[in-house]
Amino acid sequence: MLKSNCLKCVKCSLHKNRTQVVFGEGNKNSKILFVGEGPGVNEDIEGRPFVGRSGELLDSMLKDIGLSRDKDIYISNIVKCRPPDNRDPLPEEQEMCIQWLRNQFYLMKPKIIVALGRIASLKIVDINIKITKDHGIFKKKNNVWMIPMFHPAAILRNMKNKIYMQKDFLNLKNKIQELEPFLIDSKTHIFNRLPIN
Ligand code: URA
Repeated sequence: MLKSNCLKCVKCSLHKNRTQVVFGEGNKNSKILFVGEGPGVNEDIEGRPFVGRSGELLDSMLKDIGLSRDKDIYISNIVKCRPPDNRDPLPEEQEMCIQWLRNQFYLMKPKIIVALGRIASLKIVDINIKITKDHGIFKKKNNVWMIPMFHPAAILRNMKNKIYMQKDFLNLKNKIQELEPFLIDSKTHIFNRLPIN
């Protein structure tokens, strides 16, 4: 219902140039929600989040800490339609679209939110965030643990920062282990597969 309504959304002008709405994907029963900025050209064509090179990097980082996007997490974006020329979504576009994410949040009730990049971190974690300084640091808001991270596309532009993202993923893994009793879901089995050090 939520998804089918979202796929028909014409609330902002981004709908005019979209090929497909990118609603999100993954395990809806997971308690771990990843949020990116908005679809790029590949996502717009396929209707799925993070399918380009950024997505490959994200998948490999997830794999390194024993997670898979299909089984263990859910991924969505601040805006569900592609901003033209891959520009940042405008504040008014974000404001129009955020209600879809809020509804996804209410349905999922995540315990951990990973904000990928500056736009998602500002919108979700803290309006004053400086991603270069604050990445990898958890903040608890309304009983939800939120962690800002570099956007995978930013890492691809400067591979020297990859080490920081790997470290932030280890922080994520530690938080998952710490919250284990609250995250277990009958349909999710991440803790059987997480390598425990
Ligand atoms: N970048 C994002 O922020 N989201 C996507 O879905 C793809 C690339």
